[in-house]
Amino acid sequence: MQTRYITTPLYYVNARPHLGHSYTTIVADVLKKHLMQRGHPVTFLTGTDEHGEKIEQMARTSGRDVKEFVDEVAQDFESTWQQMGIDFDIFYRTTQPEHIRKVQGALQTLKDRDLIVFREYEGNYCVGCERFLTDSELTAAGTCADHLKKPEHRKEANYFFLMSRYQKRLIEHIEKNPAFVQPEHFKNEILSFLKQPLGDLCISRPKSRLTWGIELPFDSNYVTYVWFDALLNYLNATGWPDKFNLELWKSCTHFIGKDILKAHAVYWTTMLMALDVPLYRQLQVGGYWLMSGNKMSKSLGNVVRPLEIEQQFGRDTLRFFLMREMSYGLDASFTLELFVNSVNAHLANGIGNLVSRVLTLCQKNFKGSFNPASLTDADRKLLGARQTALTAWDQNFDNLKYHQALKVWGELVTQVDLYVNEMKPWALAKDPTQSERLQTVLGVCLQVIQTLGVLVYPVLPNAAREIMKALGHSKGPEAGIALALEDRFEFKLAPEVPKLFMRVQLPVTEETTKT
Ligand SMILES: [Zn+2]
Repeated sequence: MQTRYITTPLYYVNARPHLGHSYTTIVADVLKKHLMQRGHPVTFLTGTDEHGEKIEQMARTSGRDVKEFVDEVAQDFESTWQQMGIDFDIFYRTTQPEHIRKVQGALQTLKDRDLIVFREYEGNYCVGCERFLTDSELTAAGTCADHLKKPEHRKEANYFFLMSRYQKRLIEHIEKNPAFVQPEHFKNEILSFLKQPLGDLCISRPKSRLTWGIELPFDSNYVTYVWFDALLNYLNATGWPDKFNLELWKSCTHFIGKDILKAHAVYWTTMLMALDVPLYRQLQVGGYWLMSGNKMSKSLGNVVRPLEIEQQFGRDTLRFFLMREMSYGLDASFTLELFVNSVNAHLANGIGNLVSRVLTLCQKNFKGSFNPASLTDADRKLLGARQTALTAWDQNFDNLKYHQALKVWGELVTQVDLYVNEMKPWALAKDPTQSERLQTVLGVCLQVIQTLGVLVYPVLPNAAREIMKALGHSKGPEAGIALALEDRFEFKLAPEVPKLFMRVQLPVTEETTKT
């Protein structure tokens, strides 16, 4: 099975883990679990980006030592992901000595190849972006389009990476590899950006205004631009350059949010070309979660803390909502009301209710096995729906339609519910002549519930494990996707019926308690 390498961005330590970080991390984790179920060895990297002006400023404003400050935030990210069951293999930090050494090595290589040059530069510098902006990046009012602040006029001598040399090659690569940047509209956005002449990339900052960075190996008066430093993490983690795992690298899928599309599709790709390293396999670009129409941000005070949601509403619920309610690559809204409605409709009333209903009937009536020769057309039809659901699930995953995969899965939940309503096992239980039929109906339900558990494991890992345990299976859902279509005629059910999901309610706000 082909090895796969998947990454989240290294999160910038100017903020604590919030919903936006969680979404990208969860999408990557879901894909990892999906691939591992299908036998692929997967390496999953996440981590923190810890240099730059904003970090230095934040630490200074709060009177903290910078290293102490970044250690604390990095620890917060790592433990948040651990507590949320994120199955990462590498937690990469850009302040580790090996990273610093490798970044300096890459800079020296490019300098030796005359791909880094020294130039005077005068222009509009945005502190938020931590770089000079081109005229086309300014709004009509002359502000940065991302930060809506007037950039500072700065004149300084700096080192530039000759990114413009690779413009033609980059356009060709994207056109020849239509899946390279996905979803499609982001590929088009990059191609349209590349229609204008591509400038060179300023990759240094004078120490007179920033010391918290990686010193240039060829000029101790400068540190490295934070993006040039941070992007190299993906490659460095594969052992590059001295112990380079080329196969792993070539299988790399980067998951990012759309705000850092240009850094990954343009800066990073041209850096790789200049270093003579093959490009990564794919860039998957996610949209924004909007809070009442606005992008979530610290300054707007509408930040959602992922761990608090999980603790308040139950394990797996946040993963489910984020995967089910966003069409990958587009923006979607997050409100607690939408969240609560989705959890109740699909989890509490959906899979949770079905499992509890069927297993309760089984506790009273199921004798542990049924005869496969007794299957009717209706039974075969429901059992056949398992393969259909699995095929559709996989196709949707291959096309980045994660929310569609969950819709397909939800339809199978509904099919089992309808089957139970139609077969009325509670009525069969009252008729002694129907005892064989009763065993078959319950056995068919158990088989399809196993399918539902195994299939949904990447999104609902905890619930899936509980389902397999309740069915008395010796294996967990992670053991392999073949378990989804396993024909079992004997079940040694666990003595307890699991409560997978509780109905949840909107938290009572201060305002409502007053009235
Ligand atoms: Zn800006």
